[in-house]
Amino acid sequence: MSFSSDVKEELSRQESGKRHCQLAELAAVFEFCGEAVPSGEGGKRILVRSDNVLVIRKSFTLIKKTSNIISHIDIRQNGRFAHSRSYLLRVDDAQDAARILDALKVDGREKDEVCRGQPTSPLLLQNDCCRRAFIRGAFLSAGSMNTPEKSYHFEIVCDTIPQAEQICSLLEGFGIDAKLVERKKKTVVYVKEGTQIVDLLNLMGAYVSLMQMENVRILKDMRNQVNRQVNCETANLGKTVNAAYRQIEQIRLLQEKGMFSKLSQPLREVAGLRLEHPEASLKELGEMLDPPVGKSGVNHRLKKIAEIAGQLEEREDNEE
Ligand SMILES: [Zn+2]
Repeated sequence: MSFSSDVKEELSRQESGKRHCQLAELAAVFEFCGEAVPSGEGGKRILVRSDNVLVIRKSFTLIKKTSNIISHIDIRQNGRFAHSRSYLLRVDDAQDAARILDALKVDGREKDEVCRGQPTSPLLLQNDCCRRAFIRGAFLSAGSMNTPEKSYHFEIVCDTIPQAEQICSLLEGFGIDAKLVERKKKTVVYVKEGTQIVDLLNLMGAYVSLMQMENVRILKDMRNQVNRQVNCETANLGKTVNAAYRQIEQIRLLQEKGMFSKLSQPLREVAGLRLEHPEASLKELGEMLDPPVGKSGVNHRLKKIAEIAGQLEEREDNEE
């Protein structure tokens, strides 16, 4: 199972005990997977379609709990694939459907037209608890997430821009900065930031998935930290090696020009050690001296050598 389906599995088991929250969640499922179609007798039928049995089960439970109505479920096998099914939940009775549509405050429920894909009435989304339930229902019906090992991505696919804008502003109310993008005539609401996706899982009530994601995030963080450290150490090592290489060139130059023997005793000692130990750090060179000298002392002497070598190079350039 994917991380996305794990989250949905967990959310499908989240049941709110309060009717206002149940209606908000049902409104989300109806908005994203449902429609009310004229029944022919002046009334409406309600249909909810999904390939995900969790969405259908959720609708069935919520309709039962909020209105005490039992809906019908049709299952269709898609082609030759045993696992590919689609589901249709129906409320055929016009009176039952009217009660549900009234409770969901669906616009145009009295008119003889198909009601589909309208943003949910703000009247159902007045409380924070109901907003959470709505986001949960929307994700269950039209959302998906990447597995956090791969990348951080959360999205809800909307049919219309007003739907997407409603989701965005609800998320904004919870401090989550969602973005919109057009994809194949749909508008996708998405979040890419790890901590914000954790917040989303929290507000939808997917606590087990949240822990899973946090574990991945901690591992990723640790890996990044180790990588940073290794990069940093490699860079420092590179600097030391380059500096030592330059020092050896300078000392060789002094030797070639017969200047080495003219160096003072302390400079000659350090220069000799540097030639013998190209890979040693300044601190290590200092410890090899008798008596030992600190890092800054060694640095001072090597600078002096560099200065003399520099003057020598300059003089040669002028003579040429
Ligand atoms: Zn509520």
